[in-house]
Amino acid sequence: MARRFTGRRIVVASHNAGKVAEIADLLAPYEIPAVSAGTLGLPEPEETGATFEENAAIKALASASAAGEAALSDDSGLAVAALGGEPGIHSARWGGPRRNFTLAMRRVEDALPPDAARDAAFVCALALAWPDGHVDTFEGRVEGRLVWPPRGTRGFGYDPIFVPEGGRLTFGEMEPGAKHAISHRADAFGKLAAACLAGAP
Ligand code: IMP
Repeated sequence: MARRFTGRRIVVASHNAGKVAEIADLLAPYEIPAVSAGTLGLPEPEETGATFEENAAIKALASASAAGEAALSDDSGLAVAALGGEPGIHSARWGGPRRNFTLAMRRVEDALPPDAARDAAFVCALALAWPDGHVDTFEGRVEGRLVWPPRGTRGFGYDPIFVPEGGRLTFGEMEPGAKHAISHRADAFGKLAAACLAGAP
């Protein structure tokens, strides 16, 4: 049974500015301020899980225990069907030690055989954890296809090569509000909000 959140703020267990900004936007209608793990100087645990949900739980539990208050984490990535779901949970690592996503997008493109299907999905697991070790996880996804070359300067990560199903613009070209309405993060957040947050916006 998911636990209800009744605190005054949520620690966002991420050092990724793009994700922190998107999660803060999702929390805003609930009037729950977000403070990032980076701002609090919390350590980043090693992501040793085999799934998005396991990694999200590891990160949320580490921040909740270090901060002594509830923490929300996001583990997400791009799953390319023709690459057996890669880069998947390794999406950040494909950008190398400097997290260079121009490089990571090129690596995805180069890994795809010329006639391969270009279907892909963004997947997001959100975990809400408490200092006593309780954790709830929720997963969301958005289906789409890969384009080349990258298009658009909005968003972050792999956004410029992903066009959601039925759309024409990449996530990198879309208004942030339009991405939020359909994204994997919004899908997971809707499930989390229904189970754990009071007062739908
Ligand atoms: P992690 O969850 O911190 O291990 O990293 C997830 C990685 O997946 C990010 O660094 C991005 O490269 C990618 N990713 C996750 N969500 C998105 C998104 O909404 N747009 C673009 N890339 C994303």
